[in-house]
Amino acid sequence: MTYTFRQILLPPTKYPIKAPYIMFPQFITVHNTANDAPAANEIAYMLSNNNQVSYHVAVDDKEVIQAIPFNRNAWHCGDGGGSTDPNALTKGNRLSIGVEICYSKSGGACYVAAEENAVQYIAKLLKQYGWGVDRVKKHQDWNGKYCPHRILSEERWNSFLNRIEEAMKPKETEKDDDKMQFTNETTKAAVRDYIKQAVDKKLIEKSWLDKFDNGTMTTGDYEGLKLIIAQRENNKK
Ligand SMILES: [Zn+2]
Repeated sequence: MTYTFRQILLPPTKYPIKAPYIMFPQFITVHNTANDAPAANEIAYMLSNNNQVSYHVAVDDKEVIQAIPFNRNAWHCGDGGGSTDPNALTKGNRLSIGVEICYSKSGGACYVAAEENAVQYIAKLLKQYGWGVDRVKKHQDWNGKYCPHRILSEERWNSFLNRIEEAMKPKETEKDDDKMQFTNETTKAAVRDYIKQAVDKKLIEKSWLDKFDNGTMTTGDYEGLKLIIAQRENNKK
């Protein structure tokens, strides 16, 4: 891993301005900051002002900083109060995790490194949620804004997605050692039952059960999955 991850979280007193709704994320929206500041400065600015402008994560050449929990919405897609209807067009602000890639204004080595960190981080998020690269959207997809401007102007959106897809593939070394192992069939059946119930309750996608059944679920996948299930069960209460 080339980046470090940390959280500098929006105080809940600011939720009404910057993250008013509970969200069950379905997409990841990619942005370029159109600025030359590092992630810490971008986040500090976003947290300190009182504008209805917000996003979940900023990525630079060294770190990924999360400012808003993924179960709250943020205002970064320019599609207004929008909708949580999966068929609506205006759902970026209500269903997507906003990722800002720093240093895009001038580009250069810092930007290149930031973009690569975003590729790796987004790949990790997709795996955690059991999603494919089809869940990754441009800001432009929601309201037409020319963003992420640098990726668009350099005509690299498709290659950006390909890099994410590539980063999602398990490395040769982790292919086998990290697979879930069970000491007996009873434990295995119990884990399968736990996953199936979460699928039945629509807390997670069915692809997770398929992954379990075809034996490709890793212990890392399962740990992430348990977190998602717990979080979503909490939200339902
Ligand atoms: Zn944007």
